[in-house]
Amino acid sequence: MLADKLKNKKLLPNQAFVNGRWIGASKSFDVVNPSTGDVIASVPDMGADDTHKAISAAHDAFPAWAAKTAKERGAVLKKWYQLILENKEDLGKIMTAEQGKPLEEAIGEVQYGAEFVEWFAEEGKRAYGDVIPTTTHGNRIVTIKQPVGVCAMITPWNFPSAMITRKMPPALAAGCTVVSKPAAATPLSAIALAVLSEEAGFPEGVINVVTTNQSSDVGEAMCENDKVRKLSFTGSTKIGKVLMEQCADTMKKLSLELGGNAPFVVFDDADLDAAVEGAVAGKFRNCGQVCIAPNRIYVQENVHDEFVEKLKAAVEDINVGDGFDGDSNIGPLINEDGLDKVVEHVKDALDKGAELVIGGEKHEKGGQFYQPTILTNMNHDMKIAEDETFGPVAAIFKFKDESEAIQKSNDTIYGLASYFYSRDVGRVWRFSEALEYGMVGVNTGSISSEVAPFGGVKHSGMGREGSKYGLDEFMEVKYISMGGIDE
Ligand code: NAP
Repeated sequence: MLADKLKNKKLLPNQAFVNGRWIGASKSFDVVNPSTGDVIASVPDMGADDTHKAISAAHDAFPAWAAKTAKERGAVLKKWYQLILENKEDLGKIMTAEQGKPLEEAIGEVQYGAEFVEWFAEEGKRAYGDVIPTTTHGNRIVTIKQPVGVCAMITPWNFPSAMITRKMPPALAAGCTVVSKPAAATPLSAIALAVLSEEAGFPEGVINVVTTNQSSDVGEAMCENDKVRKLSFTGSTKIGKVLMEQCADTMKKLSLELGGNAPFVVFDDADLDAAVEGAVAGKFRNCGQVCIAPNRIYVQENVHDEFVEKLKAAVEDINVGDGFDGDSNIGPLINEDGLDKVVEHVKDALDKGAELVIGGEKHEKGGQFYQPTILTNMNHDMKIAEDETFGPVAAIFKFKDESEAIQKSNDTIYGLASYFYSRDVGRVWRFSEALEYGMVGVNTGSISSEVAPFGGVKHSGMGREGSKYGLDEFMEVKYISMGGIDE
């Protein structure tokens, strides 16, 4: 039993949270541990009507929350931050049980996500307006920033905690109220965060969590309800486009954090050991189920073989297994569809001439486990070149020179994260500027931070999470023109 593993058993109410109350629904659905296939909980399966009720609760709570000072809102957020840290081991265990990632990595995600709560508790105080020099005598021009209103949030299963804590704190710090819908695969982390938000002292209706296995009905309710003034979504490009269309009628403000297909370029002047370390960390974390994971690794031809050899040695050390086993470095794929996609991508590549260096099969542990895999001799006719694999497969393409590397890197509809390794300062600037991506990691595979703007361009979406820009996503700029001043 999951509850037996927790110190704080209150984190598992297995209910939805609406208007400050823990509630059920007419039906429920099961949450399954992807490592074992065991049912670990059953939670309310809410529908469109329940969602409209949660939106009304958030709408009613909005004026009083928006009227508080940023410092007052920040104090509640800071309390929430402290409670998340105090409970981080338990929150990690809940995540490992529902998502599969190794416990240490899960606790790391909780810590990473909590940093956004602290950051925005402070940043809310800095929602400055402007005083703009006037062009007309007797007139003054100022701007102020105000919260957009009720915000709906839809998040994926791959980061069940951090995707929520990247969205809610800026909205709450700005003075917005929220209705959050976690993925059906991982609702328990969202519920546990809501338990701690209640303890932190957010007023009734400010935070609402709707659990559901009917995501299209709930999503539609969120999009069509005019009381919702902002939708913040993290998930696939396909669903992001559906939601964008659905939001057109009520003209909502949108943030869309969508899919990626990150290039990872290794030039011949790179520190190869650092590049291998960055590739392994970026590619195999969370079993490759990461929107910013390198999907296409481009290696300059004269260092290609050495890089592959070093990468193979590092990948041989990766242990696959249940996230609760201390030895496991990577867990299972989230579900059978996820596993099937990896199998399909590897088969497609091998059929079209890729060479297998290591892995390439379902893992002997069975279930949704897959072997860490390296493929070489990749080309742009293969599925991996155009679609994110979302699995533990390092696909290596050879390139000749900088112009080929930039052309290939940008040859995708996506534009989320990109990486390259080089020690030539001129190239570092040239290549950073030429990459058509929202984020560039230079000599590092680690780019996520609460102080930096996370987000994509092209079909990877719009809007930024984290940093000073993250707050603006939940605010409107109001311009006030004041006349009659010199009369
Ligand atoms: P997904 O199918 O788009 O699901 C994401 C969320 O949307 C889930 O909560 C899902 O609920 C919900 N959803 C699905 N269909 C919906 C609909 N018709 N209306 C409203 N909501 C709907 O994505 P996924 O495959 O689970 O997640 C992985 C994707 O997320 C990848 O493409 C990855 O790159 C992307 N991602 C992006 C970022 C970023 O910051 N850019 C970060 C992490 C992940 P159910 O699961 O319950 O159906």
